[in-house]
Amino acid sequence: MKPLGPIPDGFVAVDGELAIGGRKASDLVAEAGATPLFVYSRDMLRGRAAALRDTMPERLGINYAIKANPHAPVLEFMAGLVDGFDVASAGELARLGEAGIDPAWVSFAGPGKRDEELEFAISASCTINLESEGEARRALAIAERRGVRPRLAIRVNPSFELRGSGMKMGGGAKQFGIDEERVPALARKIIAAGAEWRGLHIFTGSQALDAEAIIETQANVLALADRLAGEIGAALPKLNMGGGFGIPYFNGDTPLDIQAVGAALSDRFAELPDNLAATELCIELGRYLVGEAGVYLTRIIDRKISHGQTFLITDGGLHHQLAASGNFGTVVRRNYPLAIATHFDAVPEEEANVVGCLCTPLDRLADQAHLPRAEVGDLVAVFCAGAYGATASPADFLGHGPARQMLV
Ligand SMILES: *Cc1c(COP(=O)(O)O)cnc(C)c1O
Repeated sequence: MKPLGPIPDGFVAVDGELAIGGRKASDLVAEAGATPLFVYSRDMLRGRAAALRDTMPERLGINYAIKANPHAPVLEFMAGLVDGFDVASAGELARLGEAGIDPAWVSFAGPGKRDEELEFAISASCTINLESEGEARRALAIAERRGVRPRLAIRVNPSFELRGSGMKMGGGAKQFGIDEERVPALARKIIAAGAEWRGLHIFTGSQALDAEAIIETQANVLALADRLAGEIGAALPKLNMGGGFGIPYFNGDTPLDIQAVGAALSDRFAELPDNLAATELCIELGRYLVGEAGVYLTRIIDRKISHGQTFLITDGGLHHQLAASGNFGTVVRRNYPLAIATHFDAVPEEEANVVGCLCTPLDRLADQAHLPRAEVGDLVAVFCAGAYGATASPADFLGHGPARQMLV
């Protein structure tokens, strides 16, 4: 037997079935027309944003990094909950535009921005977080050619990293950002060139559950920004402090203590140095805002025994939920939170392997899990599917096609 990850708070059974946003899984599937289906809950998105507003200092802006979930109805809904958006490609910027979101509200980070992407973003008055000196030169040249004043910020590659983060994106040699010691000279150059100076972006890592690590990193970020602003010799209009707030995926993971993070940040904000006194401050979150609000529903197609083990074979799999299969940045595969949605309040009575329909042994959703007995036709729910699901999985692999998505 192997443990399953913890099911996020807020999911209940209605008539014995998992309900999402108050509606039974089977009803949602009937409305969508078929499985596999991602369901995202407005109530949970709203609740998560409200919890952050309650705990973070009022002055702190909260941005949504849309690579976690760029589903158009989700973007439209998030627009009412956050203070800004962060994108990592012109394609993401276009998606925001289609959702009716003003690009002037957006910042664009990411290594390897093509000229066409820079041109599109500059023309739309989006802030560009420059990732290299070469990118700065290209952005300035494109803006001059178009006769517009670009809004430019610099993404810093800091010398520290976010301790305990699942994915490190700062510290040491990195493809992200500009090494901190080279930032002041570049900032002075782009200010002298007449760009609208938008400040600094310091993102150090992702998926951290340890409040102390985040508190320490935020203190380091503020100290570094203060020092760099001093060396640049110009006020810092804006500081994107990064994010990194994680969610529990696996057995033994405990939720991040945002109360502690918010309290520590409030203390810092009460004694900001002069260089940051008038700076607009924000964090950028992806999975923390949307991850727990999503559930992936898939139907059992076959049930069979092999060498004494039970296999529940579903119509879903890693082509929609790569992360749950353990193939998206994990070293040792562990089970995500998962349940038999159509027997959500039943007691576990058997050990089963839940797998996808792809012809590869990598396509596993749960190994040796303790579950209620499930038959062909029952629905399986994989939780924590609101972030890095539909768009972070190889939907074309093996030709089964994409999953449906709905916001309820
Ligand atoms: C991916 C990314 C995020 C979002 O990360 P989460 O772990 O989903 O919060 C935020 N900022 C940048 C720059 C990113 O690359």
